[in-house]
Amino acid sequence: MPQRRKKSRSKQTPQLRALALLACLIVIAGAVWYFARDRGAATAHHAVARADFGDRLRTLAGRRGARPAEIDADDPIRRVGGVFVRTWKISLPDQEAVRLLRGDLKAETATWQGRLSTPPRWESDDGRIRVDLEGEAFDIHLRVAGGKAASVPTKPPTAPPRPTERPTLPASAHGRLAILLDDAGQNRELVPEAAALPEAIAVAVLPFLPHSVDTAAELHRTGHEVWLHLPMEPRGYPKENPGPGAILVSMPEREVRTTVRSALNNVPFIVGVNNHMGSLATENLRTMTWVMQEIAGRGLKFLDSRTTAGTVAEEAARAQGIPTGRRNVFLDNDGHANAIERQLDEAIYLARRDGSAIAIGHMHARTLRVLEREAERFSARGVTLVPPSKLLH
Ligand SMILES: [Zn+2]
Repeated sequence: MPQRRKKSRSKQTPQLRALALLACLIVIAGAVWYFARDRGAATAHHAVARADFGDRLRTLAGRRGARPAEIDADDPIRRVGGVFVRTWKISLPDQEAVRLLRGDLKAETATWQGRLSTPPRWESDDGRIRVDLEGEAFDIHLRVAGGKAASVPTKPPTAPPRPTERPTLPASAHGRLAILLDDAGQNRELVPEAAALPEAIAVAVLPFLPHSVDTAAELHRTGHEVWLHLPMEPRGYPKENPGPGAILVSMPEREVRTTVRSALNNVPFIVGVNNHMGSLATENLRTMTWVMQEIAGRGLKFLDSRTTAGTVAEEAARAQGIPTGRRNVFLDNDGHANAIERQLDEAIYLARRDGSAIAIGHMHARTLRVLEREAERFSARGVTLVPPSKLLH
């Protein structure tokens, strides 16, 4: 930026005029440079951007020995100053693999015209890397798989098969699809848009936020199901902050119960609860049992958001006789419109193949826009939208 000149009160107006002209020229030149640079970067990015960077990250990590269950993708994903920051946690067999993957990421970031950085305050970690791309950023934690990894069940990856690998379904295949939009309550901006979506699309509201209560009331009034989005301890807590009212695994029974009760009391009109974050807490059967007992006491339902492959939340809910189920697809872990559409296709496919499916998205402008656009086409595409509570048993 050109430095601002001190205003001169002298009467030498021609000199002043010349100065003003010079300032204008500098600003114009700056703007031209800025936009030219931006377009150049965008073009270069799109040239290699057929795939999501997350897909590349998964592939590269797999090559260095990370098993699918040890890649914790997009947990959480946040929006910071208009940029989607996607957190990935990857466990690798050894320190050498960490070193090699670091090198891979450096090269990969360069081909995406991105910027890779390792902030000094994170250096004590096994390896935390930030990759800034156009409109999004990756906060990548690399660690050596230790005792912790052993507790993660070695299930097949939850990642759905690619569309090309699937058999085509008969045209008659029809299914029910539920969509829940998480993380409401922080601000009111997108509430009218969410309220205008089909009534079957439900919203999960975080407790104790400035707009938790009025958001719940507004969506209930407009016919949508309201869910409590109960914050739970993620791996990486407290750096990863689930927000006020979170359930922590270090809490004794009494505290877990009072924390759940306060959250249940804070958000009105709820029909059920699903977890916000919770990659650590939902693996803890003891904590989950206390949580589920409180939920059962209110006659509510529970939907497992599945932020970790090792979750036992659904099992704990079932043990308490709570109607429960699980999220099948995350719609907007990648916040690009085409990625959201792809995930919606996936959800529709699963609903048609299996009879029903549950998708979770977030209160993000792009997600709402995609849903708004697609709203009319659901039945033509072979699915009926239903509120999530209808799919829990
Ligand atoms: Zn959430």
